[in-house]
Amino acid sequence: MLPTYVKAPVEFVRGDGARLWDSDGREYLDFFAGLSVHNAGHCHPPIVAAITEQAGRLAGVSNLYYTEPAMRLAERLAESSLGGKVFLCNSGLEANECAIKLARKRAHRRGIADPEIVVLDGAFHGRSLGTLAATPRLAREDLFGPLPPGFVDVPRDDPDALRAAVGERTAAVMVEPVQGEAGVFPIGDEVLLAARGACDEVGALLVFDEIQTGMGRTGSLWAFQQLPVRPHVMTAAKALGGGLPVGACVAADEVGDVFEPGDHGSTFAGAPIPAAAALAALGVLDDPALLRRTRELGTRFMELLDELDGVAEVRGRGLMVGVSLADGLDASGAASRALDGGLVINVPGPGMLRFLPPLVIGDDEVDTAMNVMRDVLS
Ligand code: PLP
Repeated sequence: MLPTYVKAPVEFVRGDGARLWDSDGREYLDFFAGLSVHNAGHCHPPIVAAITEQAGRLAGVSNLYYTEPAMRLAERLAESSLGGKVFLCNSGLEANECAIKLARKRAHRRGIADPEIVVLDGAFHGRSLGTLAATPRLAREDLFGPLPPGFVDVPRDDPDALRAAVGERTAAVMVEPVQGEAGVFPIGDEVLLAARGACDEVGALLVFDEIQTGMGRTGSLWAFQQLPVRPHVMTAAKALGGGLPVGACVAADEVGDVFEPGDHGSTFAGAPIPAAAALAALGVLDDPALLRRTRELGTRFMELLDELDGVAEVRGRGLMVGVSLADGLDASGAASRALDGGLVINVPGPGMLRFLPPLVIGDDEVDTAMNVMRDVLS
């Protein structure tokens, strides 16, 4: 493999719910869920059954024909979020590429030759050239330039700066409602309201990247459902596929007519097996009792983390939780000691830890994770 990842020295061979087992048979509690992919837990029986059943029936025919799982998935996604129309794809960056293309094409139609997309500092939207350009930290590193032009970044906590950056050339403002890769930073309501207000004033689109925040992670199926604004376009991926690679770009009714045949496409997009897995994942996660439990457990988990020595700040929404450690504490060391103690957690950046457990955990799992964290930080 090309050395693009820093890997921990563990090989996982099996998963069940919030538990993982390594090649030596050792059991772990998973508070990372494959980076917010296995929100329904590992090998959730209805998802496994849907994949197995569809694999035995029909694996694909290309996007030049109809298949039932893709049609049902598009309908369910639209109904559960913005209405309108859906483009299915295979990953988060592809969903965001679709949103960027849609916003730019719509801007061209409105006579804007040189459209701009406003993004927030700290955002992460993917690693294709287009989504890298929309990810200010990586765009500044400039390892793969020239990147596509037309992206403007503003601080993530400054509604005035955001309003000032939106003008006649703006095609869209693109926001993660809670910035995940930055270390779990919820975007303030005043910034979101400024974004929607500024977009409405100039006729631009508000795009929410719900790739990490969606599928119940924050305690509602989509994070925007707990927020004071609704986007025109929403992207989803990660947990959408129930463990298989599925992404989606949902365009509300008023922007559902931008694309025409030939504007966008992808061979595997919306193929029957991943689409069946996504429908099963939605069946598990779009459950009011599970979502309420996610909010309650998240609050309890954050309160407990806040009491730990060595924790300077706790942030999050639902079971998307980030921690900044006290000055001088080594987050990578803490995560590797947690792994030694049987708990899988993540380090999104220096001095920070991130917790993204499957949403099917209970109080016992929170208590077990807290015991490990207490040991690690003491
Ligand atoms: N957007 C957000 C908010 C993400 O967290 C990620 C991945 O971490 C992406 C986009 C890119 O998704 P993918 O890795 O599936 O391309």
